[in-house]
Amino acid sequence: MQRDIYDEDHEAFRDVVKEFIKRYATAEARERWDAAGEIDRETMLAAGESGLIGLSVPEEFGGAGMLQDYRFRTIVNEEVIGAGAGSLAGAFGIQDDLAVPYIVHMGTQEQKEKWLPRMATGEVLGALAMTEPGAGSDLRGIKTTAKKVDGGYIVNGAKTFISSGNTADIVVTFVKTGEGNRPDAFSLLILENGMEGFDHGKKLKKMGSHGHDTAELSFSDVFVPEENLISGKEGQGFIQLMMNLPLERLSIGIAGAAAAQAAMNWTIAYTKDREAFGERIIDFQNTRFKLADVVTTVDVMWAYLDRALLAYKDGKLTAEEAAKVKFWCTDREWEVLDTCVQLHGGYGYITEYPVAQAFLDARVHRIYGGTNEIMREIVGRQIAGKR
Ligand SMILES: Cc1cc2nc3c(=O)[nH]c(=O)nc-3n(C[C@H](O)[C@H](O)[C@H](O)COP(=O)(O)OP(=O)(O)OC[C@H]3O[C@@H](n4cnc5c(N)ncnc54)[C@H](O)[C@@H]3O)c2cc1C
Repeated sequence: MQRDIYDEDHEAFRDVVKEFIKRYATAEARERWDAAGEIDRETMLAAGESGLIGLSVPEEFGGAGMLQDYRFRTIVNEEVIGAGAGSLAGAFGIQDDLAVPYIVHMGTQEQKEKWLPRMATGEVLGALAMTEPGAGSDLRGIKTTAKKVDGGYIVNGAKTFISSGNTADIVVTFVKTGEGNRPDAFSLLILENGMEGFDHGKKLKKMGSHGHDTAELSFSDVFVPEENLISGKEGQGFIQLMMNLPLERLSIGIAGAAAAQAAMNWTIAYTKDREAFGERIIDFQNTRFKLADVVTTVDVMWAYLDRALLAYKDGKLTAEEAAKVKFWCTDREWEVLDTCVQLHGGYGYITEYPVAQAFLDARVHRIYGGTNEIMREIVGRQIAGKR
């Protein structure tokens, strides 16, 4: 189905992204990232240079000034995931969807001036640390504390599963600044790599996205100056997270659609090429029926996402709508990828084939950014009239 949300500027930008991929997301580069367990800084700097990251950073701070217009980011996801570089797409996503927005939309003027120009170039990479060993879905159960002292805070605690946590220079960190678990008991602090007492645990080994690092972080009496408190106001952390979560969830839905579309394209090509019983795989009615389902699912995903993208642009994408987008698109992604792996036969299980890697990368989409059960909980509560 023809999509109509992009104009000439978007398509010109798509060419830039394709050019970048040709140069920097080669098979050799992907192998290098997988072996290292992280995307190298040179690639991130090149992405900054080409204007692929920092898209929502205002122009006055050296970014593309897209703020609420997520269409350019969507193109980055479509092309990078479409090229089989899911880990790179993940690293771009953490920078642009999870770290930069807190500073663009909620940072103080000083924080914007200090961090944004270098976040747009890739010189400063960010991460977002909410999850702890004992608290993921139940974020108000976190234990990391930030105690007010003269001129700042002393932070103690630990975080886990933090994407880009090893490579990040700054980590927007969800901490307790008050007693109990009321929403105003939490704040967001920017922790800087190298601060005394801020340590990284082992790089976590994952089933997919091998080229994108996932970290354990620990904080032992880390002094964080008060100018690193997001928005400069204590007790706003929970509300600030809630403000950005719709974007995070929209972005995961989009990554899901991009992966489903990529798998669809690889599978159509593969089944036209491969033969069994003297016929092409695509000549079996079963294959055509399965592909008809896949193609229709991908069309519907984009139709839904394009509406959500425009709603986000107009500031109208609610938390409940973003939750629907996230769980529905990533559940469909999973079904599509499973079908596509199956249609590849044994090769679908071999990670040299992009469909196998995409399948492994996709599994976490139903877990992070809030599990799909929590997404249904958010939607279900609204239906039931509960807050
Ligand atoms: C690769 C990867 C990258 C990640 N990146 C980041 C990151 O950058 N920053 C960050 O902060 N976090 C990150 N996470 C953490 C992720 O967001 C959490 O893992 C996720 O929110 C689930 O939390 P949990 O693992 O503690 O599971 P739990 O909360 O323990 O949940 C376990 C199971 O119980 C279910 N469950 C829990 N509560 C309910 C309920 N009320 N109703 C029904 N079912 C429920 C869940 O859906 C799940 O199936 C990442 C995780 C992974 C695996």
